[in-house]
Amino acid sequence: MRINEITNWAYGVTVVLTVLSGTAFMLSAGSANQERIAVEEHLSLDELSEGLALGAEVRTDEARLYVMRGEDRHLQAFRRKEAEEQGLEQAIKDIKALGASDAEFAALVEVGEDADALDQLENAAITAYQNGDRAGAQEALFGPEHDRLQTGLLETVTRFRELVKARTETAVALAQSRSDWWGMAAKTMLAVTAALFLGVLYFVLKRRVAMPLTRMTGIVTRLARQDYAVEVPLDRRRDEIGEMNQAIHIFRENGLERDRLDAERRADQLTKDFILQMMHRLQACQTQGELADVVSRFAPQIFPNLAGQLYVLNDSRTMLTEIGSWLDPQLSATSFPTGACWGLRRGRPHLSNHGHGDIPCQHLGESEAAGLCIPLTAQGDTIGLLYFEERPDHDMAAESSRLYLELIAENIGLAVANLQLRDRLTNLAVRDALTGLLNRRRLDETLARHGRDHADRPLACLMMDIDRFKRFNDEFGHDSGDIVMQYVAQMMLDTVGEAGTCHRFGGEEFTILLPDATEAAAFALAERLRQKIATTPLSHGGRILGLVSVSIGVAGSPAGGPVSTLVTRADAALLEAKAGGRNQTVLAGAVKLADQASRNSA
Ligand code: GH3
Ligand code: MG
Ligand code: MG
Repeated sequence: MRINEITNWAYGVTVVLTVLSGTAFMLSAGSANQERIAVEEHLSLDELSEGLALGAEVRTDEARLYVMRGEDRHLQAFRRKEAEEQGLEQAIKDIKALGASDAEFAALVEVGEDADALDQLENAAITAYQNGDRAGAQEALFGPEHDRLQTGLLETVTRFRELVKARTETAVALAQSRSDWWGMAAKTMLAVTAALFLGVLYFVLKRRVAMPLTRMTGIVTRLARQDYAVEVPLDRRRDEIGEMNQAIHIFRENGLERDRLDAERRADQLTKDFILQMMHRLQACQTQGELADVVSRFAPQIFPNLAGQLYVLNDSRTMLTEIGSWLDPQLSATSFPTGACWGLRRGRPHLSNHGHGDIPCQHLGESEAAGLCIPLTAQGDTIGLLYFEERPDHDMAAESSRLYLELIAENIGLAVANLQLRDRLTNLAVRDALTGLLNRRRLDETLARHGRDHADRPLACLMMDIDRFKRFNDEFGHDSGDIVMQYVAQMMLDTVGEAGTCHRFGGEEFTILLPDATEAAAFALAERLRQKIATTPLSHGGRILGLVSVSIGVAGSPAGGPVSTLVTRADAALLEAKAGGRNQTVLAGAVKLADQASRNSA
């Protein structure tokens, strides 16, 4: 019930009770008035009867004095009293109007009759006296008859007064008890009104206002501090406090919603920040390894619920190979043919989801978990694949960031394409087109960098020249000469492997740099290479080109001399090998020693 209704009801009940108690007070006052009237009636009847008794006595006295003394003033007094007596008797006749009972009225009639009888007797005595019968008159006034009548009158008056007294006392007691009852009723209703008023006041103020307000003040204070975790007990009553409670509920729910939206916005902003940071890093990557590292570090921060792998296409565009992964993906193979991925086949993102009926990619296992393949493209060319999969207890569908997934795929694709383009340009700049070996410029750069940064670290150099190469050109044509050169280059690459770098120095001369290799190790490698080349006969265009041999000069640094003279020293050793009959390896140190020995002998 609303406070308004409660107070209205209380007001109505209070008004009714007030009216009732007022009425009771009036009734009580009316009873008091009846009591007063009864007392007044009693007094007037008492006075009347007393007046009758006294008047009879005075008259008797005057009559007796008159017959005793014969003085007229007593007779006159007697007559006057007689007239008064008749007045009183007339008043007694109206006693009914004063509420006298039948018994009282009968007593009064008897008083009147007694008074009349006495009056007749006294009048007769006075007449007898006036007629000269003084003795008879005295006899009548003082005789037993007079005495009997007078006594009877007094007794009747006394009886009447007792009757009036008894009735008055009864009436007074009744009026008094009514007055007391109504007075008590009025006071009780007044007390009930006051109690009701105080009760409603207490209920309204304490139970319905003060307590809920105190509780809500605490809640509102916490809400004002944006502590939306505070519990707001639902108060369904239909009053102002209930409405306030509902308003606070709505306020809290709005706050929670705003917090949720804020958190979503912050998370979204954080995702965008991470994506932006990743884009900046991707642009600065110089190798695919760096790029894979950047993606593997940022992807789990952007999509904490998705594991993933980054693949690139091989040069022949037939296989995809993983170059990076994050959050331990389980389903996709580390290498697979392009045809095994529906995303690559269709050239668009593909969600492999066993549970939802779409066809799963073949490079995924038989798991029920979903996997998303996003092809990496640049300028219309597919260059790799970005793969995401659900982690346990996380639903791919809940990841509402497909747009972001595709955005970062696009950026990774561009970054991979940029790196590949840069690799191609760098290759063009530093590699020889015919043999695929590094060119002379790259050799000069490498030597300069080594001399600058690692001058104290060992570096061995092999200078190599194909023996009698001109012959191949001359006998079989330039194409055959090119084939010989490509064959020698491939032999070099196979033999050197990761141990060093192979360069085309110019014409049919080649240079091999072997970092951290001693002269002896370099010499051994040179010999292996020379023998390998020399033992494989070549043919081209159906014609046998024959055996190819090379001469090699080997020099080392810093043991044999500084890096700056490395190539010169190796070249000198090569010349020595040529001079020594070709198809042989000469160590520069040996040249020096030989020079020294020949100079000493000279
Ligand atoms: P030697 O044993 O003294 O080194 O004899 P050689 O014939 O190898 O020496 P020479 O320097 O006289 O001949 C090198 C030849 O290599 C000259 C040039 O025509 C040829 N040559 C240089 N560059 C190329 C090339 O790119 N392709 C072909 N087919 N021949 C080339
Ligand atoms: Mg040559
Ligand atoms: Mg030459």
